[in-house]
Amino acid sequence: MITDSRVVLHVGLDDVDSQISGCTTHFTYAVVKELFRHIDCLEFIDYPNLVRLNPSIPFKTRGNAAVALRFEVPYDDVEKVIKIIVDMLEDYTSDLDDKGGSEPGIAVLKGNVPEALNKLYLKALTDYVHVDYLRNVISEVRDLKLPLGITRGVIGALAAIGWIQGEDCTYELIAYRSINNDGGRCVDVNSVREADIKYRDYVFNNYDHEDGKMLITPHGGNPVLLGIRGEDPEIVVKYFRELNICETYSGYIIFRTNQGTDSHLIKRDLSELRPYRTCCVEVALKSKPLQLRGGDVIIKIEDNPPIYAVFYNETSLSSIARKLDMRDELIICGSVKQWSDLTNVINVEKIHINRKVRTYVYNPKCPKCGRRMKSAGLNKGFKCGKCGFKSKEVVKEVANIVENVNKTFITKVGTMKHLTKPQCRYGKEKQCNFIKPINDWIQ
Ligand SMILES: [Zn+2]
Repeated sequence: MITDSRVVLHVGLDDVDSQISGCTTHFTYAVVKELFRHIDCLEFIDYPNLVRLNPSIPFKTRGNAAVALRFEVPYDDVEKVIKIIVDMLEDYTSDLDDKGGSEPGIAVLKGNVPEALNKLYLKALTDYVHVDYLRNVISEVRDLKLPLGITRGVIGALAAIGWIQGEDCTYELIAYRSINNDGGRCVDVNSVREADIKYRDYVFNNYDHEDGKMLITPHGGNPVLLGIRGEDPEIVVKYFRELNICETYSGYIIFRTNQGTDSHLIKRDLSELRPYRTCCVEVALKSKPLQLRGGDVIIKIEDNPPIYAVFYNETSLSSIARKLDMRDELIICGSVKQWSDLTNVINVEKIHINRKVRTYVYNPKCPKCGRRMKSAGLNKGFKCGKCGFKSKEVVKEVANIVENVNKTFITKVGTMKHLTKPQCRYGKEKQCNFIKPINDWIQ
């Protein structure tokens, strides 16, 4: 009997990183190529998803990148797909003497994504996922296979599958080197600058025009040649094709991603702050800004128990924080870290100033002609420059001016976290769902 029944598979991958040569997206690139080679009638229902998770978790993989692949295959090929991926993972990590603490996770889900996985995504994005919570989720989800068992990487693998649809998204084209060495990538910086100017309305964080630096190439010995971030898959391919790349590379793949969307910065109350939680909180200063050695600035935002916010100098937010006043109304966004003395401190990524109050001191106005008078010398009162009136009065006018600032300040592009929405993306938010990839999404 001939059956043509097909099934949608969601494959989550995480923590394939190693200190030496690997990374999860590179493994994904190899897996997708291999699946196309061995599975007929393989049809992707979405771009591979590159899903960034909570950046404040300490035992994270580099960059906290988990991946989900979503495709339709003949029902009879499901076991073959799983075997290909598991075998490849063994191969991929076998040449590593030291796995660098990596604990890869693979999750394979058949059919629709259940709400329990959406919730897990949200938790893995904004909080700490305890293994008991993970086990609960796993027990709730049917049609799920974990070929490597419950490893640490399973959290990211399942969270990537559970990435909530209907929210904002961006794209990243990642190209991979054919040689793997520690040396610098050979990409012409001028071609990057020109492409960036040409497509500036549709791309972000690829080139720092202020400091004249390209941001697309990583450093060190990993297989990534470059990554181009943008709003649209066709644009990132065009951008890529205009670059002068002076080394051989193996190819590229386009991911749909939650990068640059602020999805981790959820609104919380001060009382909800715990270590590892991400947040946006309305705060009032409980102390004046205090400058630490090295230029970092710290402010107290809660007395009992004490909570602080820290603005690191390299993020360029310290210069904003230094000028804050106890009467200012603000929202700060970032993630909570526990310092060694157990104090909770928010590492600030964004600061939104709603209103600020500033005190101004003026010389009094001339009672005869209304012009502001000039000082007649220390403790000698004032005199009018227009009509010559002299006053022995030494009291100045004090005015507290409330300014509606309504402005967001963000960490500098070079120090920005993958999830942080840069200034140029404000107003470009879109509602994203699974979308069939364009023809040249992988090469
Ligand atoms: Zn006067």
